[in-house]
Amino acid sequence: MNTHATREPSFRQSVDLMFNRAVALMDLPPGLEEKIRVCNATYTVRFGVRLRGQIQTFTGYRSVHSEHMEPVKGGIRYALGVNQDEVEALAALMTYKCALVEAPFGGSKGGLCIDPRQYEEHELELITRRFAYELAKRDLIHPSQNVPAPDMGTGEREMAWIADQYRRMNTTDINASACVTGKPIHAGGIAGRVEATGRGVQYALQEFFRHPEDIAKAGLSGKLDGKRVIVQGLGNVGYHAAKFLSSEDGAIITGIIERDGALVSQTGIDVDDVRAWIVKHGGVKGYYNAQYVETGAAVLEEDCDILIPAAMEGVINLGNADRIRAPLIIEAANGPITAGADEVLREKGCIIIPDMFANAGGVTVSYFEWVKNLSHIRFGRMGRRQEEARHQLIVDELQRLDEHLGDAWSMSPDFKRRYLRGADELELVRSGLDDTMREAYQSMSEVWHARDDVVDLRTAAYIVSISRVALSYKEKGL
Ligand code: NAD
Repeated sequence: MNTHATREPSFRQSVDLMFNRAVALMDLPPGLEEKIRVCNATYTVRFGVRLRGQIQTFTGYRSVHSEHMEPVKGGIRYALGVNQDEVEALAALMTYKCALVEAPFGGSKGGLCIDPRQYEEHELELITRRFAYELAKRDLIHPSQNVPAPDMGTGEREMAWIADQYRRMNTTDINASACVTGKPIHAGGIAGRVEATGRGVQYALQEFFRHPEDIAKAGLSGKLDGKRVIVQGLGNVGYHAAKFLSSEDGAIITGIIERDGALVSQTGIDVDDVRAWIVKHGGVKGYYNAQYVETGAAVLEEDCDILIPAAMEGVINLGNADRIRAPLIIEAANGPITAGADEVLREKGCIIIPDMFANAGGVTVSYFEWVKNLSHIRFGRMGRRQEEARHQLIVDELQRLDEHLGDAWSMSPDFKRRYLRGADELELVRSGLDDTMREAYQSMSEVWHARDDVVDLRTAAYIVSISRVALSYKEKGL
């Protein structure tokens, strides 16, 4: 938590400061800069739900930052600390994030002030449906205008309730299921959406480690294999990122920080085992196979190669920035580093892979889900078997060659099985996500290297995004 709130700007001001740093290096027409920066509208709703024999009042927000492209897109967060400043900051980040990964959306975000752990499932359903009703009747949930997604404290279950609520209110809308993304597969979702943000963090790091110059800037060398990683927040994003990095890239998870403390082990922590422990016991305390540290946040300052804050904003601030030792930080959460801390870290030579890129996997796969909903067909359904049939032709020819050449040559044992199989939806989604993350990294990295006045990846990311948003406004005649 940011204990230096008095000395530090708010989350929204932090985003604006980073925006201002980038536009100072750009040549935007007068007025356009302000138009892009400001949040277009924020709707606040207070509604009552009868629970446990009495009416409880809830406060929610839906903020629309920029409508240079529609629909606007952004998650809905359930947390007690949700407030207008935070929702507006997150909506602005969505505008820049979508532009950076070329998802054709404007930026939006929503939130409800609630601690979801205090409610039973049927109570959460009542609350979510009522919130969805309030937003949908003002077109703040709508397939062509405003498409929410999961964020902190929400997931597939809430998205399914929202989709169903919208459908009940719009019975003749053939595109109703495109009103929200992150739905379960049986309710119009897409394979790979749950893992998408964590998977995107993995792809982002893989791409970073394909750039020797950038690795050297962080004072690191080699590949992801063997790198010591500390992750904060083992929720949707942190869990998937840590799981994929350790099981597929050979990274060693040396620290896991959660609400109730942290776990550390230099030999590596089994991510799935800890996740199962959290689900059963509600936290990491008592976990048997790593050392427990009660002051979890202190583990952010431990020695490691890569730090992945994947919980919430403002956790690296003026209070701890100078003690952070990680040479490379990837912002899996939104806004985990305050503007003040960003400067301290930059001066120390720490490389920061910024949130608007690092966690864009979620909105990228949400884009694929929205396209799937609008086209009413699963990806791969038309072409998969045809692709397999064409591969069969080649395999048959190779088989003939194999027989003809005898011992001189033979097909590798697994080649036939792997080559013959056409891509299913999950593989197509992962391929599209990987491509998106690589392209976005390259566009940022190009600006970072091409200009001496662009000192970090974050400024480069803002420059790329703002240029694209500006172009879009210009095309509209603004
Ligand atoms: P989540 O609710 O699934 O997980 C958050 C995790 O962080 C939980 O395990 C929680 O216990 C832990 N946590 C909360 N406060 C903490 C603290 N002070 N210290 C340590 N751990 C703490 O949420 P999520 O969906 O994984 O989102 C995490 C972050 O990623 C948020 O900033 C969110 O905006 C961002 N994000 C999420 C998505 C997505 O698709 N879910 C997409 C883009 C960005």
